[in-house]
Amino acid sequence: MNKIIRKTEDLEQWRLSLKSDINFIPTMGNLHDGHQKLISIAKSSNYNINLVSIFVNPLQFEHKEDLKSYPKTVDKDIEIAFSNGADVIFIPNTIDIYPKNNKSISYLKASKELSSALCGLTRVGHFDGVCTVVYRLLKLIQPKNLYLGEKDWQQLLIIKNLVEEKKLNINIISVPTQRDSDGVPFSSRNKLLSKNEREILKLFSNELSHAKKIFKKDKKIDLKKLTKKLESKNISIEYLEHLHPYSFKKVQAEDNISILAGAIKCGKIRLIDHVFLMKRNPIIAIDGPAGSGKSTITKLIAKELNLLYLDTGAMYRAISWLFKKEKIDYDKETELKTILNDISIVFKPNSLSQQDVFINNFCVTEAIRSQEISSIVSKISSIKKVREFLVNEQRKIGQSGGLVAEGRDIGTTVFPDAELKIFLTASIDERAKRRKSELEIRGTEEIDFNQLRDFIRKRDFEDSTRKISPLKKAKDAIELFTDGYSINEVVEKIINIYNLNVPKEIQLE
Ligand code: C5P
Repeated sequence: MNKIIRKTEDLEQWRLSLKSDINFIPTMGNLHDGHQKLISIAKSSNYNINLVSIFVNPLQFEHKEDLKSYPKTVDKDIEIAFSNGADVIFIPNTIDIYPKNNKSISYLKASKELSSALCGLTRVGHFDGVCTVVYRLLKLIQPKNLYLGEKDWQQLLIIKNLVEEKKLNINIISVPTQRDSDGVPFSSRNKLLSKNEREILKLFSNELSHAKKIFKKDKKIDLKKLTKKLESKNISIEYLEHLHPYSFKKVQAEDNISILAGAIKCGKIRLIDHVFLMKRNPIIAIDGPAGSGKSTITKLIAKELNLLYLDTGAMYRAISWLFKKEKIDYDKETELKTILNDISIVFKPNSLSQQDVFINNFCVTEAIRSQEISSIVSKISSIKKVREFLVNEQRKIGQSGGLVAEGRDIGTTVFPDAELKIFLTASIDERAKRRKSELEIRGTEEIDFNQLRDFIRKRDFEDSTRKISPLKKAKDAIELFTDGYSINEVVEKIINIYNLNVPKEIQLE
């Protein structure tokens, strides 16, 4: 379908008769590679109708000259939008979007917290204008998905906030900043730069990416030094800030991800760029009681997001297996220290694309899943020395991040600074049902449903009442009750939450 709509009435009529969902890609025209990526990603993600809007919103320009000089290339834009996967292009006039005396148009204010930093400090009213036009377009178009670029990170957060505040049922899908071969982010305003000015912008973008590399090593940044360096290269800085990426408050020592964002003036043109700084790669913590589906879901998330998968329960099970085999009297704390010092637990990928668990070179993947081990693991996992040993091992594995770990104390103790914490639960009957079918698939042992349910209840009780790091929802964890949801639905939910908590730009590194 290649359709152009210019009038709001026509759009409303077309919308009424449309049965499919819409992916919406709002633009101000002068389409470049950044827009092309948004359109093509939306196209390849689903079978929805891809609607691109081209509208230069006068409300978000503080200066008339800036609005006047904003590059307008509608014919070329139409060609680019269709050839990259647009089905419908909406090209309204100002009067269509803001008809005079129309009382139904809400002139909105952007979130105060989010708009009183970075660009909001100098571009007074800019984000109010953005919110007003986006809300108007969202009401007209009623999309299911809204695609926005991370290039305008502050705008992205402000729109996310607007969608939440107005309780619009719209998914926001962000796309990483697209850059030219010289490192400069694509932007419509780049067209207006002279050769010299472009060089300055290139220097600025390259300095930011250099700062990112240094930060990876040093874990800190000297903003004053960087500012001086930029100024010595004749870069005219409007602002350069190192902030928390979601609140725009000053970065705290414990923050793992932060944003280094700046605006510079190249002649008359104002340009922005940013990089995300990370002390380590992101971590997802998934905790929950026995049989809540943690393993299945964690494995799928690891695969989907290309993260390492860490099954901490398998580590406690492996130690339980070894203690049983060696007939270790684990009540004698002093002996435990030497025994634990000699233990090595290793995960290795196997031919079934799963992980095998080895303890002191014994492959125990299957053996640790027996009911015999399940019935002793809670007792062994409550031993202080065992916990200290394993938490330390787990932190070593997660030192540089890039993993999703499941267990009972991941969000509270092992990785309390994880970017995303999920607490998975389900009713006891549902969990017993899941465990029973798991054991049946394995075909190793038969167990009565009621007996299995009692076992699980006992294990939950032991795990959540032990003294040291008991099974508990971390304060900042999101609880998901999974009765009635399919595995895929839960995975999709968690990935959506992850995408709201971690910029895509970081996820792809
Ligand atoms: O998740 P799974 O059922 O394999 O865990 C086995 C046991 O290991 C749990 O019941 C709990 O006693 C212990 N465990 C723990 N802390 C973790 C993971 C598992 O205490 N992080």
